Amino acid sequence: MRYIIHYDIAAIFVVLAAMVHFFYKKTISTRQTRIFTLLIAAAMVSNIADLITIYGIENPKGVPLWLHYAVNEIYLITFNATAAIYYGYIIGVTRGRERISKWEMARILLPISIDIILVISTPFTHAVFYFDSEKTYLHGSLFMVLYAFALCYVLASLVHTIRFRKTMTLLQNATVYFYTLSSFVAVILQIYFSNLMVAQFAVAISVLLIYLSLENPSDYGDKILGVYNGLAFQEVVSSYIEKDRHFRIAGIQIEGLRYIGEMLGVKNQQQIVKEIAQFFVQTAGSRRVFALTDTRFAIVGKKKSLPWDNIRDEIQKRFQKPFSSQGMEIALTAPMCIIDLPESARKLEDVTDIMNYCFEEKRRGSREEVIYAGEDILEKGKRENKILQILSQAIRENLFQVYYQPIFSVEKQRFTTAEALLRLSYGDMGFISPEEFIPVAEKNGLILEIGDYVFREVCHFMTEHKIWELGIETVHINLSVVQCMQEQLHEQLVRIMDEHLLDYSHVHLEITETAAVVSEDTLWSNMHRLIDVGVEFALDDYGTGFSNTMAVIKYPFRTIKLDKSMVWDSMKNKKAMSVLKHTISMIKDMNMDVVAEGVEELEQAKKLSEMGCDYFQGYYYSKPVSAVEFLEKVKVQ
Ligand code: C2E
Ligand code: CA
Ligand code: CA
Repeated sequence: MRYIIHYDIAAIFVVLAAMVHFFYKKTISTRQTRIFTLLIAAAMVSNIADLITIYGIENPKGVPLWLHYAVNEIYLITFNATAAIYYGYIIGVTRGRERISKWEMARILLPISIDIILVISTPFTHAVFYFDSEKTYLHGSLFMVLYAFALCYVLASLVHTIRFRKTMTLLQNATVYFYTLSSFVAVILQIYFSNLMVAQFAVAISVLLIYLSLENPSDYGDKILGVYNGLAFQEVVSSYIEKDRHFRIAGIQIEGLRYIGEMLGVKNQQQIVKEIAQFFVQTAGSRRVFALTDTRFAIVGKKKSLPWDNIRDEIQKRFQKPFSSQGMEIALTAPMCIIDLPESARKLEDVTDIMNYCFEEKRRGSREEVIYAGEDILEKGKRENKILQILSQAIRENLFQVYYQPIFSVEKQRFTTAEALLRLSYGDMGFISPEEFIPVAEKNGLILEIGDYVFREVCHFMTEHKIWELGIETVHINLSVVQCMQEQLHEQLVRIMDEHLLDYSHVHLEITETAAVVSEDTLWSNMHRLIDVGVEFALDDYGTGFSNTMAVIKYPFRTIKLDKSMVWDSMKNKKAMSVLKHTISMIKDMNMDVVAEGVEELEQAKKLSEMGCDYFQGYYYSKPVSAVEFLEKVKVQ
């Protein structure tokens, strides 16, 4: 019998093409790439071994018996291994980054292990195949076991795919169906035309399809920047963590890029980012460089190899010089955050959290250019987590309290309004400042419930005690940026005021300039609708940002609240005093009221009232006090 081997030869070329492409492309070592490498290797070896066995079968005399056995064994083992590896691959795909369970491992390895034992022992047992005295190749009594196991693998892959089809892409699904179908067709063809060798070709095409659909190495590269991307970062870091490797991540945040985009256009911005990425690649040496976002990079590598200090110094040095674009010199900064694993982080999410935390800290004014994620950062992270838990509990169990800080009217020489300030005390942690817990609540969305609670509480307080009869005309309530981004904000607030039968004009909402910038349109429409019914707005913390005048001009504020720092600075510094004076007269000129915060001494109050300030809020008059104390205070005035 003459075998038709054209398909076998074609299969070699198909696998070869996938192999060259795969190794040439930038990719990272993940469980899936490793399994895929194994699959390619098995397909290639079985293909070549197959051709040699055919040669041996056609020319039995020219080959020694041991070699006949050897190549046939190699062929059978590697060919059946492709089915097992393929099955493992499918399971791996649907498991994502999770470990493959022991039970699944057993299903993958058991049949192929039995195959291997049967095949290896076959020269002695003749169970799978043997040669007669003419060196003719004959099937043994257990040959069919191999077929049966291969069939099991194919069916198991199919069943697994159908079960987890939702976690796979359309192309991945199609690949499995093709593999199943082609395996069956190949087996049937093989049975009817025993000299037609097509099985290898079916495997080769499947390998190619998997390469195209399941294993797309370009998924891991940032094509424009020529570095690895965020997905690659996730894969690499999770697999290192899984293997308990000791390694270091340097996160680098490029600050100042946004301005380039705004001034010189996105194209020029991208050009500079590319330059920076290439600079990192050169500096990082053998370590991998990842682009995590438009402005954030990471360098990952072993802690011990090569001096990290040099990399750090080189990066710092480069960023001390400006970058140039379109003939302009642009200064950028690159704060760095260094995280050692496993000491400082045990999960991928920890890494991201720590990085966010470090760069936030930097933005809040930390002078450190390089932040080592040590104990203190971890401690802060832990505290944040604890606060988060406490907040949820506080919402459920009503542990918050609303305090009121009276605000003094210069004109009426008494308290006419107050600011509602949230208070939280918890067990051994004691008093937790809103400066600490409000940002945590904002990050986690809990602020919406908290804001709702405060608003209700204040409405209830006002109507229950009819505080306008005590001379308190309005109460100021702080709104978080997140609340201002809610489209139904005005409806919610109006509903709550209606529930309490509260006249809308007793409510004065305080928002910061950040809210004005972040949620421009939504805030604008919310504000107008609320103002239409009589609610008033105050701009909080005036004098802490850069572009305050924009918010003052654009939005219909009734009141501007000067930040404590502005008040305090003016008492120490002549220039600051001049700024304050002109700020107050500017606000008055626009027909708005001015509240000065942080008035701690009589001296300050005198100067501020000379400058035309309308209201004072500060410890000189009163600290924030409980509702009961507040009522006592205003009743006696
Ligand atoms: P804020 O809106 O600027 O509130 C004024 C802060 O200044 C209050 O701090 C108040 O206790 C403090 N303060 C007032 N007068 C003086 C003074 O003379 N000297 C000094 N050193 N401090 C003074 P507090 O209560 O710790 O609140 C901090 C921040 O937390 C508030 O700043 C506000 O942004 C936020 N916050 C408080 N309650 C709420 C709330 O119900 N909702 C929202 N979204 N934020 C709130
Ligand atoms: Ca406020
Ligand atoms: Ca304020």
